[in-house]
Amino acid sequence: MVFLFSILSSLTNWGSRAPRLLRGFSLDFVSSGGTYFQDYLPHFAQAALRAGWTDFVGLGRMMLAYPEFPADVLEKGRLERKKICRTFSDCTNAPRLGLVSGCYPLDSFYKGRAEAKQLQAKKAELRRPSPNPLLK
Ligand code: SF4
Repeated sequence: MVFLFSILSSLTNWGSRAPRLLRGFSLDFVSSGGTYFQDYLPHFAQAALRAGWTDFVGLGRMMLAYPEFPADVLEKGRLERKKICRTFSDCTNAPRLGLVSGCYPLDSFYKGRAEAKQLQAKKAELRRPSPNPLLK
């Protein structure tokens, strides 16, 4: 059985103890949310595994922005900074707005799609202040 947990909760008191407390139940833990560490994700992953906070470090949106991330860490020992996910969240905002998910800011495939313009337009529309009904 696999238990997915947010690495942010792992930094809380409960989260950091949960993997050890539940070990008797034969659960494997996969952390999530590690992309927020950005350039420091490899350091975090190493520390989390070493400290026993998790059994696996899950990679989510980092894989959309930078699919070679694990290979570069393991084989080259360095990262290409321009490819690192900066957690802009277009990949999650687009589906919320009815568009296909993808890394619009960093992946040229998505940058060139018509949905990229639609996404920008919808975001601009959402940023516009709504009329105050009290000022009518
Ligand atoms: S859209 Fe933003 S959050 Fe999503 S993968 Fe690309 S850089 Fe990361």
